[in-house]
Amino acid sequence: MESGIISVDKWRSGSQAYFLTHLHADHTAGLSSTWKRGPLFCSRLTARLLPCKFPSFDLSLLRILDIGTWHTLSLITPSSGDPTIVYVKAIDAHHCPGSVMYLFRGEFGCMLYSGDFRWEKTSVEAEIRRTMLLDALKNEKLDILYLDNTYCNPKYSFPPREVAAKKIVDIINSHPEHQIVIGIDSLGKEDLLLYISRELNIKIWVWPERLQIMHLLGFHDNFTTQTSLTRVRAIPRYSFSTDTLQGLNKLCPTIGIMPSGLPWVTKPLKGNENIFGSSPSSSCINKSNLSPDITKSSEKHDLIKDLGIASRFHEYIYTVPYSDHSCFAEIQEFVKLLRPINIKGIVSSSPYCIDPVYYFGHLCGTKQAFWRVHQKIENEEVEENRTCEDTNIKLASEGNSTKGKAGKKRKMDEFYFFGIRVSRVSLLRRLSRGVRIADDE
Ligand SMILES: [Zn+2]
Repeated sequence: MESGIISVDKWRSGSQAYFLTHLHADHTAGLSSTWKRGPLFCSRLTARLLPCKFPSFDLSLLRILDIGTWHTLSLITPSSGDPTIVYVKAIDAHHCPGSVMYLFRGEFGCMLYSGDFRWEKTSVEAEIRRTMLLDALKNEKLDILYLDNTYCNPKYSFPPREVAAKKIVDIINSHPEHQIVIGIDSLGKEDLLLYISRELNIKIWVWPERLQIMHLLGFHDNFTTQTSLTRVRAIPRYSFSTDTLQGLNKLCPTIGIMPSGLPWVTKPLKGNENIFGSSPSSSCINKSNLSPDITKSSEKHDLIKDLGIASRFHEYIYTVPYSDHSCFAEIQEFVKLLRPINIKGIVSSSPYCIDPVYYFGHLCGTKQAFWRVHQKIENEEVEENRTCEDTNIKLASEGNSTKGKAGKKRKMDEFYFFGIRVSRVSLLRRLSRGVRIADDE
C-alpha cells in the first residue's frame, strides 16, 4: 500500500487514518492525550478504556469499528490525488480486552494486520473468529500478513490458557498459608484473575487504577483494593522482582507467580531489576544458567509434587506459561490457514525476534494463495452437496419442485477471484494445472 493512507499502531504524521489494535504500551508509543493527527479507529472496548490511559484525549477523533462488520473509508491516493475506497473489518484478537486484528481491502489488495493475538482452538469463540476471518477473506488472496511473531520459534511451546490457569490455581492451593502475588500488566489476564477468584471464592487485590479498569470491563464483584480481604494480590509486572518477593517474605510467607509464555528469565538478576523485562521478546538467558543454590532451595521449599507446565526458578517465584500471545504451533496453524503471498513480523525490537519468513516462507507465495482458495472451494462443495441432500430430503417430504435449488447452484458456480468473476469449473481446472489467471478474464 502507498504510504500516507493508513497507519496501524504507528503514530507518525502523514497518514489519513490511524488504527489502534489494543492499548498495550508497545503499541501506543507515540500516541498521547494531545493527539491531533487524525481520526483514530479502534474497537468499542478499546474506545471505552482509552481515556484511562490518555485522560484528556479528544474523543471526537475516535472512530469505533464494530467487530465482524465491514466499514468503508473514503480516502485520497497521495500520489495521484484521486479518491480511493478502503474497506476494513475488525476481528477479535483474543489477546487482551478490546484487542483486534484488522483486515483491509482496497486498490492495494488485501492485508491482514494481526496485532498481538492468541490463536487457540479450544473455545467456541475461537471457532467463531476462525469462520469470521475465512468468510471475510472469501475467495480472495491475502497479499500481506503482518504477523505477531513474538513467539515465532519452535522452542516456544505452551498450553491453552485454560490449562495454565488451572495450574496457577493448583499452585495457590498448594500454599494455603502463603500470601500470593501475581505479576500482571495494566491490561490483560483478566480472565485468569476471574478464574482464580471464582475457583477459590475470594476477591483479588488490585491497585486502584487497575480496579477502575476492572469496573469499566464490568467486573464489579471479584476485585478489591483492601489488602485485608484477600491473600491473593495482582501487582504491576514492573514491581514484580526477586527483591520484592524477598522483602515480602521478611514480613510473612509469600510466593510470586508470573503468568508468561516465556519459560526463561529475561535478564541476569541484579539489584531491584524487573526480572521479566518490559517485553516478552527482550533478551533471554536460559533457566539452566541459574544458580544451583536456587534449584536446591526451590526443591527444599517446593510444596507441589509435580510442577508440570509450571517452573520454579527462585525460592519464592513460579512461572506458568499463561500467554496472551500465540505459541509457535498456533502461529504455524494461522499461517497455514491463510497462506498469504507475503508475510512480515510486527515485532522487530529485539535481536532475538525471528523473521517469520524463516519458518513460514514455504507457506507463502502466489502458489500457496491458490492452494488456500482451492481448499475453500472444495470445502464449500462438500458443504453444498450436504445442503443439497438435506434440501432434497426436505423437498421430497414436502412434494415441492427443485427450482430454488437450481437458482442457488447457478449462483454458487461463479467466484470472484483476484477481483475477477470466473466459473468454479474454470477456476478449479486452472488451479490444478497451475495456470496463471489472465487479468482480462
Ligand atoms: Zn499486547
